Amino acid sequence: MEKLKTIQEYAKNLNLNYLKTNAGTIIEDADLKNMSYQDLLLSILKNEIDLKNKKAQERRLKNAGFPVIKKIEDFDINFQKSITQKQINRLVEMEWIDKMYNLIFLGPPGVGKTHISIALGYKAVEAGYKVSFVTMSDLMHVLKTQEISRKSKGKINKILSSSLVIIDELGYLPISREEANLFFQLISALHEQASLIITSNKGLDEWSELLGDPALTTAILDRITFRCQLFNMNGKSYRLEHRKSLFE
Ligand code: ADP
Ligand code: MG
Repeated sequence: MEKLKTIQEYAKNLNLNYLKTNAGTIIEDADLKNMSYQDLLLSILKNEIDLKNKKAQERRLKNAGFPVIKKIEDFDINFQKSITQKQINRLVEMEWIDKMYNLIFLGPPGVGKTHISIALGYKAVEAGYKVSFVTMSDLMHVLKTQEISRKSKGKINKILSSSLVIIDELGYLPISREEANLFFQLISALHEQASLIITSNKGLDEWSELLGDPALTTAILDRITFRCQLFNMNGKSYRLEHRKSLFE
């Protein structure tokens, strides 16, 4: 009993959480199964690593800041025909993140831009990448308040240290000159450091109007589209087609 306590204390000291919580049952189990010392050690270390990875993934998922969870498996490519199964298969392999390619999803509301972005972000989290999801309006807020708010600064630092940054809904709200400048600085900082996913209801040709300054827009587009895959998602709104009524 005394020894078990010491094992638990040592395990705690070494951050061996699996051993700390399960020391008693591990020993009983090993006795019961007549495990070899080698198998016992193997099993403990394997479980420790699995637990550590699981915890890290949970942390990455929380830090990603997805507003909801969307899965790639639930994305109906028969409804959204501008993306093929072959393209999805390639995208979930995550090579595009290793090569720091950007993805742009353009299209009207309800065609699945946010769904596919979150779903790919979720896959990236599963694959071990650091991901940050942010809407354009939240991004503008944190960029403008980073000097006065520790929370905003923290969010910016999270974004800057991510391998994939998802910026959702560019184009829904007007952007001031100052905001366009801050956006440019962020895009420059992320350029060739991280992959971006950007969704927008506006075509690239309309971004100039959106961001005010044509020179700035060119500079931003230059960086974003340097290595980039663009998806024009057209068609009907999934929301409207699958509208649920309370009184049917
Ligand atoms: P957008 O961002 O283009 O406005 P969303 O991604 O928010 O559209 O999609 C609206 C809703 O419809 C979401 O609940 C989303 O899960 C669903 N949806 C859109 N397209 C698809 C699709 N092709 N397959 C399955 N669900 C979809
Ligand atoms: Mg959306």
